[in-house]
Amino acid sequence: MISPSIPLRNCLGSRSCRPLALPSAVPVAARQPLRIAIIGCGTAGPAAACLLARLGHHVDIFERASPLRPVGAGLLIQPTGMHVLHRLDLLERACSLGHRINHLIGENTSGRRILDLSYTDFAPQTFGLGMHRGALFSLLLDAAQHEPLVRIHAGVDISHIHQAHTHVTLRTHANQLLGPYDLTIIADGARSHLRTQVQVNAQTTRYAYAAAWCVLPMPTHARWQSTLRQTYRDTRSMIGYLPSGKPAPDAEPTISVFWSLRADKIESLRTAGLAEFERRVIELDPHAAPLLIHLRSMDQLVFATYYDTICDRIHHHRVALLGDAAHAMSPQLGQGANLALVDALNLVDTIALHAPTTEAIPAALTRHDADRRNHVAFYTRASRWLTPWFQSDLAPLALPRDLLMHPLSRIPWIKQQMAQSLAGVKTGIFSSYRFDH
Ligand SMILES: Cc1cc2nc3c(=O)[nH]c(=O)nc-3n(C[C@H](O)[C@H](O)[C@H](O)COP(=O)(O)OP(=O)(O)OC[C@H]3O[C@@H](n4cnc5c(N)ncnc54)[C@H](O)[C@@H]3O)c2cc1C
Repeated sequence: MISPSIPLRNCLGSRSCRPLALPSAVPVAARQPLRIAIIGCGTAGPAAACLLARLGHHVDIFERASPLRPVGAGLLIQPTGMHVLHRLDLLERACSLGHRINHLIGENTSGRRILDLSYTDFAPQTFGLGMHRGALFSLLLDAAQHEPLVRIHAGVDISHIHQAHTHVTLRTHANQLLGPYDLTIIADGARSHLRTQVQVNAQTTRYAYAAAWCVLPMPTHARWQSTLRQTYRDTRSMIGYLPSGKPAPDAEPTISVFWSLRADKIESLRTAGLAEFERRVIELDPHAAPLLIHLRSMDQLVFATYYDTICDRIHHHRVALLGDAAHAMSPQLGQGANLALVDALNLVDTIALHAPTTEAIPAALTRHDADRRNHVAFYTRASRWLTPWFQSDLAPLALPRDLLMHPLSRIPWIKQQMAQSLAGVKTGIFSSYRFDH
């Protein structure tokens, strides 16, 4: 088991001394219990629900899926996300399920090293945690279900949000009216249509490239241990391998394999069939062959498209946007779920400190928005800038990438900035959350 003692010890203590985490005691008696609706039970939703309920607030989570289940494969949890899991008292269980990741190694098909990053370049004893999405989801869901003040309503698809000055009401697709609520949190993911109903300007585009994922048994060979690996052929072909731990305590360890492809080629890959898929994968990276023995059907592949969303603000009056609804991005930097968790923590800490009554909610959301601005802006822009170098039709970019990226990353200052970016703590080109050793 990985010791959770903490890669994170206060790893998010401050950005230029601005606290991210709630300084422990906010007098509970001073708070008015709020009625809060959360739309979406993915990553941000249940995390926020648990933390809000622990402050004494009443939380309804509405999730359109029924039964509740995770979608997708492995996720890399960064020190930032681990900090939030620690606040949720879930880190120890997460570490017992996840696989410790120390390195990120990227090579082209000629074996030339392009990326070679280590968490210890960020700070000693830090690491990433490769997790099966089902494991993270079950931890968060279980924690929410055990909070007496949280009610989870599965199979409820919210279609409308209506804000009045003092409250928010919701309407379902089945035309049921819900509420009133003092605060509503939109955590409905990258394809959010609810954010268009609040006064937020969102620029959203779908990436031309997508991914096919599968979860396979974790190999025992040393090559795969503790390392997130990627192999590239120019910018149009890529395969990645993330050891992703156990989906459940009694399950076998897994590795998530990720194959990059154009979104408009998903159907033709499906119809080409398993043998052709395996041929293409092994042609790109022969090391994949022993893993693919366990791939028995194309039905084991999960296809995911990505969105890029930048919002001019992530709140309006009594409504806050969390996670992908506020800032969807390509998974190239492995930050989406981590940002969603930090959003949830920051929102709850801000409510605790600045919204003792329902009247104070709009001002508290303005503060939350300001707190999150730099961190979110760095990663949305970095992911927008970086993705074409790894997943796009701009094949000529591969030449400068392959020639320059690794030599540049050996310059100590650049190496440290890249390691901080990986760890999830950057808040600007020259700024980051402080890490206390
Ligand atoms: C291929 C891929 C790989 C990734 N790898 C990583 C990684 O390594 N590390 C990382 O940090 N992130 C990664 N991400 C990103 C990460 O998955 C997301 O950023 C994260 O899940 C966002 O969480 P969320 O709570 O905002 O949204 P989601 O987890 O998408 O949850 C949204 C929920 O809202 C529900 N919903 C939607 N509309 C409604 C409605 N109208 N009414 C009720 N419910 C609704 C949905 O059913 C869903 O359950 C990856 C993403 C992809 C696609």
